[in-house]
Amino acid sequence: MHEMWCGADTSGEPVWHVLTTDRTTTLCGVEKEDEPRRRDATDRHCFPCMESFQEVVEAG
Ligand SMILES: [Zn+2]
Repeated sequence: MHEMWCGADTSGEPVWHVLTTDRTTTLCGVEKEDEPRRRDATDRHCFPCMESFQEVVEAG
């Protein structure tokens, strides 16, 4: 099961990343910070995370 995490992208804008199953990092490699989640801060999703997530889902 993958969780979403709202963090900054490479340009510092808030985006929703997808966490790895162990929840220590994101699928795109952005380091997950321990700051409180900013829920509903954005409706943007991290594109690299979405691509990786789709690959994981398709892989089964
Ligand atoms: Zn990401």
